[in-house]
Amino acid sequence: MSVQHDPVQRADFDQVMVPNYAPAGFVPVRGQGSRVWDQSGRELLDFAGGIAVNALGHCHPALVKALTEQANTLWHISNVFTNEPTLRLAHKLVDATFAERVFFCNSGAEANEAAFKLARRVAHDKFGPEKCEIIAATNSFHGRTLFTVSVGGQPKYSDGFGPKIQGISHVPYNDIEALKAAVSDKTCAVVLEPIQGEGGVLPADLAYLQAARELCDKHNALLIFDEVQTGMGRTGELFAYMHYGVTPDILSSAKSLGGGFPIGAMLTTTELAKHLVAGTHGTTYGGNPLGCAVAEAVIDVVNTPAVLDGVKAKSEQFKARLRAIGEQYGVFSEVRGLGLLIGCVLSDAWLGKAKTILDAAAVEGLLVLQASPDVVRFAPSLVVEDADIEEGLARFERAVAKLVNA
Ligand SMILES: *Cc1c(COP(=O)(O)O)cnc(C)c1O
Repeated sequence: MSVQHDPVQRADFDQVMVPNYAPAGFVPVRGQGSRVWDQSGRELLDFAGGIAVNALGHCHPALVKALTEQANTLWHISNVFTNEPTLRLAHKLVDATFAERVFFCNSGAEANEAAFKLARRVAHDKFGPEKCEIIAATNSFHGRTLFTVSVGGQPKYSDGFGPKIQGISHVPYNDIEALKAAVSDKTCAVVLEPIQGEGGVLPADLAYLQAARELCDKHNALLIFDEVQTGMGRTGELFAYMHYGVTPDILSSAKSLGGGFPIGAMLTTTELAKHLVAGTHGTTYGGNPLGCAVAEAVIDVVNTPAVLDGVKAKSEQFKARLRAIGEQYGVFSEVRGLGLLIGCVLSDAWLGKAKTILDAAAVEGLLVLQASPDVVRFAPSLVVEDADIEEGLARFERAVAKLVNA
């Protein structure tokens, strides 16, 4: 029996919420697979995936089962104790990656916060306080805490909040010479997204990541990959570093890790992890049994040849159709990305209009994202059905056709 709730509408948002978001005019109430329904009962196909979070769509049976079983078992116990779902998930992440140690938290920003603090702590312990500089990329995004906006390369997110965290510099992405010029013996870490997600779905060049690895090794700096958006199967490999064959020292994960349940993780080696001794870092909810139980189910489903190969095949299906739409209507200059993180770069005539396109798509019954005002981004479920891809892209084409012919 469902509980009777007081009725609420989109207009309530403007009455009771802090206005830091500008949500769509309709309110989704239910989701199943790659579909959601709003309050009026209207059905929409979801290629936004909750911003690359719903890796297995909505209400995937394996995740519902893991969550409800855990909900009937143990919700929260704190890190004064450990718990079984945490230990099982950590084992699975360690078995599947370069990492030997895991720190759990609740979001991507917190995973990066832990990564940056670890990098500084390691450098401080081994080389002294001078070695504290972090090199990051222009246009990068690493979260919204003060440390992570300071490291992120988008001043619109970091300006106007008082003094920023010091010792951070930004270099143009994919520019090897600029990175070479910036890294020194004072560098404690280089932080990169293997594909810049929020910045416009811009993949790193292989040579760039290789150069970053070499420079870090030469200067005793740590290489941090922010895989919050690119991880957990999104690119067709469990993590994007596997696609490139360049291994970081520290990796941050969140978003798809929980498939819609909040969880983040920082992965690293034993050698580095030992610098975060008991008491140096922590968070109340980190390693929460509910989140870890769901994430365990996510990794069990995602880290299989069937799902990862499926991502690669679906990627081709998306890209072929999107390139055809781009050519027919002259809206895209490029369709890029890896796996099911796809960015359609708008042509000159459409620059700045990504929001217009995603609003038009919603009218046709399709949820998509933007990544900067110049890129339309697709981050659907990794198990989106082929028929849903066709139907969703037909809706997308209708939206584009209407805009072009308007
Ligand atoms: C979304 C994102 C973050 C921040 O994650 P939150 O869970 O919103 O804190 C950090 N880095 C990247 C690359 C992201 O895409």
